[in-house]
Amino acid sequence: MSAGEGVQHIFWRIELMAGLAGNRLFSLCVAVCAMTGHGAHAFTVLKYYSPHNRERPVRAGTDYIILHTTEAPDSSSLRKLRDNGEAHYCVDSSGNVYALVENNRVAFHAGRSMWNGRTELDSCSIGIEVCGYHDRDITPAQYASLRELLARLKAAYRIPDERVLTHSMVAYATANRWHKRPHRGRKRCGMIFAMPSVRRRLGLAGRPLYDPDVRAGRLDVGDAYLARVLYGSGVEQQYAIADIRQAASGSVIGPGKSAWTIAGPKYNSAEVLYVFPNGDEYRGNQIRNWSAIPPGTRVVFAESQMENLEESARLAGFDGRSAADLAGDQWQLPSTIYIFPSGRVCRGSELSASEGARLPDGTRVLPGYVFGGRVAPGRSAFDAAGRRWNWPSTIYRLPDGRIVGGNQLSEKAIPAGSLIFFPE
Ligand SMILES: [Zn+2]
Repeated sequence: MSAGEGVQHIFWRIELMAGLAGNRLFSLCVAVCAMTGHGAHAFTVLKYYSPHNRERPVRAGTDYIILHTTEAPDSSSLRKLRDNGEAHYCVDSSGNVYALVENNRVAFHAGRSMWNGRTELDSCSIGIEVCGYHDRDITPAQYASLRELLARLKAAYRIPDERVLTHSMVAYATANRWHKRPHRGRKRCGMIFAMPSVRRRLGLAGRPLYDPDVRAGRLDVGDAYLARVLYGSGVEQQYAIADIRQAASGSVIGPGKSAWTIAGPKYNSAEVLYVFPNGDEYRGNQIRNWSAIPPGTRVVFAESQMENLEESARLAGFDGRSAADLAGDQWQLPSTIYIFPSGRVCRGSELSASEGARLPDGTRVLPGYVFGGRVAPGRSAFDAAGRRWNWPSTIYRLPDGRIVGGNQLSEKAIPAGSLIFFPE
């Protein structure tokens, strides 16, 4: 098959997948232009927009490009990213570039994020997902496509190389029982794109040399290995990546080696995969009876791509017992919200010491949130939360007690009496 036929073949496939019969003429035109332009090396962006594209607000500005790794194979990555509108672009392992959300609209890719004091980076950045893994090199075809895509976006938005960041640079977590303060290290996503050797191949001469939020005291370092990969000297980076790869290769549970000693604080999170001797696989957050894990179970560290609702809405009786277990040093702040099983809502500043010492099981704790009141007849979710009503970071407690993210709801289906919370 010639290169030209290859391009055309891809377009037919995309049209079939997306059902874009009405756009066929336009697509063919783009394909022909690509074929006649630069031959086999033509750079083509395949339009494969998310069903959510049109409902996404237009961004006020674009100051950063944020690079991600999907931590999953091509097909499942692309489908999930498109379904949820979780990136502007996806670059698959063959170097195909798919546009999922229009450049000027918001895509939900950064989650809880901060850079240089600025938060919610979805509202000021373009997100690119690269099919691959945070600690592995990408393919030559991906290098070629990503380099070209970055060159175009950097030029269009006048973004210097130092503002091409990785998700792991900007993601942060609120305080919890292991880290008493808000901290970096919530994700290792896209970590490989901090390596100078990788950046050079992508046409990026500069890089951030330190973490501005750690330096300013806004955040602690929560993952020392990650910090060394992102900002260490060349040798430190190589050693830290080697350590991370070794940990990812897995350890086996046996005498003297428990889930805790192998996986540490993340033992019960979705990022840790337990492969039982019989081949069954469970993520840490799916396991309830920790004493029933058979010896010989392999522990594998998988970088979760999920923006985890459970991390935003911690659960008393599961994530800890006391307010300090659940929210660290932030437990008495007005921005730490408590939702009791009865439906009562209070701020950390309103919580008594005795209440905080032992929360009722089932209490939800939302660090870094504002209570936006109730949805009622004549007061819609949009009235309460504004245009962020359907963002994944906006959290609802439905009258039946369920906790759901805004992206999981349609506006008309939100029952009256639902409580609404959004990041401060
Ligand atoms: Zn990411």
